Amino acid sequence: MSDLKEKHEKRMKLWDASISSHQKWIDENTGVFADEYVEERACPVCNSVDSAFMFNKEGGTYKKCKKCSMVYVSPVFKDKYLNEYYASNHTVQSETVQSDWDFYNSIYAKGLDMAAPYYKSGSILDIGCSAGLFLDLAKTYGFNTFGVELNKAESEIAKKKHKLFECEILDIDKEEMFDLVTMWDVFEHIKDGERMLNDIALKLERGGAVFLQIPSSGSLAARVLQSKCNMFDGLEHVNLYNKQTIYKMAEKCGYEVIGFDTVISEASVVANFMNYEDPYVGTFNSDFLPFKEDYIFQNDLGYKIQVLMRKL
Ligand SMILES: [Zn+2]
Repeated sequence: MSDLKEKHEKRMKLWDASISSHQKWIDENTGVFADEYVEERACPVCNSVDSAFMFNKEGGTYKKCKKCSMVYVSPVFKDKYLNEYYASNHTVQSETVQSDWDFYNSIYAKGLDMAAPYYKSGSILDIGCSAGLFLDLAKTYGFNTFGVELNKAESEIAKKKHKLFECEILDIDKEEMFDLVTMWDVFEHIKDGERMLNDIALKLERGGAVFLQIPSSGSLAARVLQSKCNMFDGLEHVNLYNKQTIYKMAEKCGYEVIGFDTVISEASVVANFMNYEDPYVGTFNSDFLPFKEDYIFQNDLGYKIQVLMRKL
């Protein structure tokens, strides 16, 4: 079995575990999350209520803003139930990362390389740092490393290596300020991204920046696979930005984008789909792709966005 196939099968197992936990929230009669748990909302980027229905997925409903092209879940879980869901369904993310270490290490390095022309040292705060594997790498680059992690099992590991805060960002000691705040595969989970970026701005040193890695609803894989794409899980990934909407969000919150790239082509996943196979466990024969993998990156069509934004 190829490495790629093995990797995908491992991820699919975690995916199945996470999706099966949606069942108890779903209304059997409608197939979507029961009314009592969810609430309608406007576009989280431009506040317009003019949206187009995209599809239902695993109980959730995805919509696309007609004004700014943002893709988001609405109705979305109320905070109370979202917290309850996360408390009872915590997948240990560090286990996945550890088993795919080479892959994650190269992705983390890309982020640090994007920041390097502006930020080579100083203090870095990783929000949702898990067991601290990104911070391990950041430390070797010369950063003073800090993390936020609310999950006890993970923070216990991370705090042996880095300074840990087990609280929300605004509850961190007043005197602690940071040059760089990072969020790896976290920001898409946050309903109110605007408030999050505004809160982070209060903890940034003058000239400091935020780095985000987020799934891209403008990626080739998402556009081709649509509802079959793993990006759309129906519950956790509530906000799916593309290049335009993440720029717009940055600007709205007083940031200037100084670095942008996409990573992970998912070319073989798209090729599987084009060959009428399961996109995630097919033969991964890229011959079915009508273009080269490079085309994806040259056109910002990679599966994930990496973006660096400096506070103005
Ligand atoms: Zn919008």
